[in-house]
Amino acid sequence: MSSEVTLCIHNATIVTMDSNSTIVDNGYVSVSGDTIVDVEAGLPPQYESAKLLDAQKGLVLPGLINCHTHVPMTLFRGLADDLPLMDWLTHYIFPVERNMDEDFVKVGALLGCAEMILSGTTTFCDMYLFEEQVAEAARESGMRCLVGEVLYDFPSPNYGQLDEGFRYTENMIQKWQDDPLVSVAVEPHSLFTCSPSLLEKAADLASKYGVPLITHLAETRDEIDQVVEKYGKRPVKHLLDLGLLNENLIADHCVHLDPDELDLLREGGVRVVHNPESNMKLASGIAPVPDMLERGIAVGIGTDGCASNNNLDMFGEMDTTAKLHKVSKMDPTVTDALTVLKMATVEAAKVLGLEQLVGSIEKGKKADVIVVDTHKPHLTPMYNPYSHIVYAARGSDVRHTIINGRLVMENRNLLTLDLSEILARARQKAELVRGWVTRGS
Ligand SMILES: [Zn+2]
Repeated sequence: MSSEVTLCIHNATIVTMDSNSTIVDNGYVSVSGDTIVDVEAGLPPQYESAKLLDAQKGLVLPGLINCHTHVPMTLFRGLADDLPLMDWLTHYIFPVERNMDEDFVKVGALLGCAEMILSGTTTFCDMYLFEEQVAEAARESGMRCLVGEVLYDFPSPNYGQLDEGFRYTENMIQKWQDDPLVSVAVEPHSLFTCSPSLLEKAADLASKYGVPLITHLAETRDEIDQVVEKYGKRPVKHLLDLGLLNENLIADHCVHLDPDELDLLREGGVRVVHNPESNMKLASGIAPVPDMLERGIAVGIGTDGCASNNNLDMFGEMDTTAKLHKVSKMDPTVTDALTVLKMATVEAAKVLGLEQLVGSIEKGKKADVIVVDTHKPHLTPMYNPYSHIVYAARGSDVRHTIINGRLVMENRNLLTLDLSEILARARQKAELVRGWVTRGS
């Protein structure tokens, strides 16, 4: 039985990111409902009632996957930069987060979803407070996501005491478990803000429902020192002794790791998220990504929150990833363009456990696809699509965005979100932020 084609993107150079890294010149991608049913060269057949999208010889590639962010922090973008971490947290971020409510987080999340769709991101992985609002914003915008409420030892502005945090997380897991786009993870913040018992309980909850456990790991030198002082061992050993260094763990940052610790991550099957721009901006350090890749560790790329980046543009993040490791290793051959694009697509999908669904343009996969307009001075002529995507293109070059077979941006117009309304609401929230910061400092 042939299923009816509902959408066809044609006249395209298709960067499939399949296991052979196939590029289809002058081809088309056909979609039926939420699924890719054809990826072929040449002209498409005459479909009865499919929506036709002419890529105008542009690049068609899998939607980008932002593996780690705190989306609602879009409302703190540019609030305070160039400060030592403790200053920044104490005088700006904490006073604001203490005052936040559901509506604040919802507006920040909608703003982030708009930015991500406009820059070609189709899936994101989020950790924040009032996370139910992030899931709702993703649902309204039509984005795919893996989200989780941040858990730590202190009372939270959202759920209060920790027991309530676990209840909130479990409710979210149950509520969204059959959703086609939204999945929920258990997300203890870090080893220096979470006691061993919190971490163990979080891991138990994650395995009870078969969902990932996500935490920040070895982000800063300070964190290493604090964990050593408290537990007499470095973070990776601490996780190993707790029995948490396994396939279910997604570890964000992983900046300060020695070769033995990298071996332990590989042996445990831990998945890693690299956030180069945040690590640079906060002067955290350079994660040993080439060494991870050499060991076969799955590594995805994330932007981290907007307050430490300051955008959610995965094109910029890919560019930075490629260049940072070249200069760090003093070797221009490391983190080549194809390798880096994998870290934002097919490898990223592996990191989030979504590789059966997304990450490449192949028959049977969900239709998360973006179209990049190459009729631009900075993208003409084109010798190598991977090079253009990683080193020359920007999020603003994305012309159409499709998620789960649904067109969510056409000709740079958002179809699921009212951008001017979101911008107006964001400006209102900024007035609140200004007041909170003045009173809190
Ligand atoms: Zn983070």
